[in-house]
Amino acid sequence: MTRLALIAEEVRTCEKCPLHEGRTHTVFSRGSPLSEVVFVGEGPGAEEDLQGEPFVGPAGQLLDKMIVAMGYHRDDVYICNIVKCRPPKNRKPEPAEMAACSPYLASQLALIKPKVIVALGATAVQGLIGTNEGITKLRGTWKLYKGSIPIMPTFHPAYLLRQPSAKREVWSDLKEVMRHLGKSAPDRG
Ligand code: URA
Ligand code: SF4
Repeated sequence: MTRLALIAEEVRTCEKCPLHEGRTHTVFSRGSPLSEVVFVGEGPGAEEDLQGEPFVGPAGQLLDKMIVAMGYHRDDVYICNIVKCRPPKNRKPEPAEMAACSPYLASQLALIKPKVIVALGATAVQGLIGTNEGITKLRGTWKLYKGSIPIMPTFHPAYLLRQPSAKREVWSDLKEVMRHLGKSAPDRG
């Protein structure tokens, strides 16, 4: 078993925070651990909790479109969340819950060693680097995870479903990620 699979196994029976009480499945990751880019969301929603995979609901379908627009196949990139169990009624995870779960994310990132982390929404940035700033202020500017991995914060795809005009900013942030990776922008510019 790979080290990532061992951590996923540990997560499956984790009771380190109260979020374990309401879960159907833990949600560890999807996609390729060989990816140069890792997308980090907030936590599982209803569909993710049922299927045990991150970003498989409506926001996930939009995220997949963004990934394809960057020139990747859906499963080329690695996707995970700050917390691995669904918060009740999709509320934001509490700081104590994020702190309890963060060693798992730290292990995932230590094993994958991506060149870039894309942080989806303010909670993802908060879980990664502990800032309380709003995403409007954070997005589009590079941050650093543990002094080593560049983070590009951008809007969460669930926000884009409510506010499609913000897709322009997200595309600009993703193009910046592609520039950093030396990937040329596909036709849509
Ligand atoms: N929103 C998230 O932040 N993560 C998911 O996995 C699904 C929706
Ligand atoms: Fe454990 Fe994380 Fe689930 Fe909390 S959210 S029970 S820390 S796996």
